Amino acid sequence: MDKKPSSDSACSSTRAVHAGENGGHWGHSLTVPIAQTSTYVFENTAAVDDFVSGRSARLDYGRYGNPTQQIAERKLAELEGADSALLFSSGMSAVTTTLLGMLSSGYHAVITDDCYRKTAQFCEQMLKKFGIATTFVPAGDYGRLESAMQENTRVVIAESPTNPHLNVMDLEKVVAVARANRAKVVIDSTFATPVNQRPLEFGVDLVIHSATKYLGGHNDLIAGAVAGPEPLVSAIKDYRGILGGVIDPHCAYLLIRGIKTFPLRMARQNETALALARFLEGRPGVRQVYYPGLESHPHHRVAREQMNGYGGVVSFDLDADLAGTMAFLDRLEIPCIGASLGGVESIVSHPSTISYYEMEREDRIAIGISDELVRYSVGVEDAEDLIRDVERALEVI
Ligand SMILES: *Cc1c(COP(=O)(O)O)cnc(C)c1O
Repeated sequence: MDKKPSSDSACSSTRAVHAGENGGHWGHSLTVPIAQTSTYVFENTAAVDDFVSGRSARLDYGRYGNPTQQIAERKLAELEGADSALLFSSGMSAVTTTLLGMLSSGYHAVITDDCYRKTAQFCEQMLKKFGIATTFVPAGDYGRLESAMQENTRVVIAESPTNPHLNVMDLEKVVAVARANRAKVVIDSTFATPVNQRPLEFGVDLVIHSATKYLGGHNDLIAGAVAGPEPLVSAIKDYRGILGGVIDPHCAYLLIRGIKTFPLRMARQNETALALARFLEGRPGVRQVYYPGLESHPHHRVAREQMNGYGGVVSFDLDADLAGTMAFLDRLEIPCIGASLGGVESIVSHPSTISYYEMEREDRIAIGISDELVRYSVGVEDAEDLIRDVERALEVI
């Protein structure tokens, strides 16, 4: 347990409600107003001169920054325990802008195989076009990680916990391998959130989030974030200004609003997911449960040491064929069938048809995306209701 961050939690509810808002209260407004503007004006040409010469720090154009966005960024940086944070128009924009900012032609990246499908596609298809090679290694295999490192490896990218099998990476081990090879470590911590895990405390260089998921938390926005030390973040900020994937002011407002209740929601979702995982384990009709909070999970020990909670997603293989799995999904009454996770509404996903439909069946099965795999993202509904609903649906198997 000694790896666990102190109980003076960076990600407390007090911070979630108040951080980043000091000096706010424009027009005596309690909540952060939405600065719905594309550009900013200068009182006179002397003010322009002050700005371009660096004598005054201020905003000039909306692609480079916005007051509402900056408050959201400050709030998130404090929750993550980072110097600074940047917000993007999507999680993928955060991933792609960060990697384009860190890599150049001739460099090499290492990425874990059990990862968000579009991140994998970006590396495999787009980085390759720019002469940047990527090696995929099995999540949790540190020997393979070490042997994948090359002279020109600049970045190791991993998720923890991973999607959809909830593998947990030992962050200190990943950092040690990368450091020994002078590479930086980028962790997509979307599934963990800053409540459950703060990768920077383990020596990780940059943390990425799809804020679409738990941070926004209401299934009503698309946004992404990067957090870390000032020099690295500021370099990525320049790339964001060029690539243009900045969050818009209204979305930044929704994110601020979502973050205020995020530690509350996350505590509930951690609890409910653990209860659901325990209910499912060993149940007739359920072949295997993937949840890092279960003692049976291969990475439970690492998860216990490095996380404060195990997250709101439970994946499981049913003891059924494709038709049986579909019947189970259709029988569930509370969760919606869909592609996202982390919001107040429970969402159930069938990865093999919803996220991996363009992949050959044999290739899918080889990476564990079986026809009978279900990914359940618990919302904030009552755990007893969700479990009773699952119990009823299991009767079809
Ligand atoms: C959803 C997700 C992304 C992509 O985020 P968007 O906001 O949808 O662009 C990246 N990584 C993980 C782990 C995700 O779950």
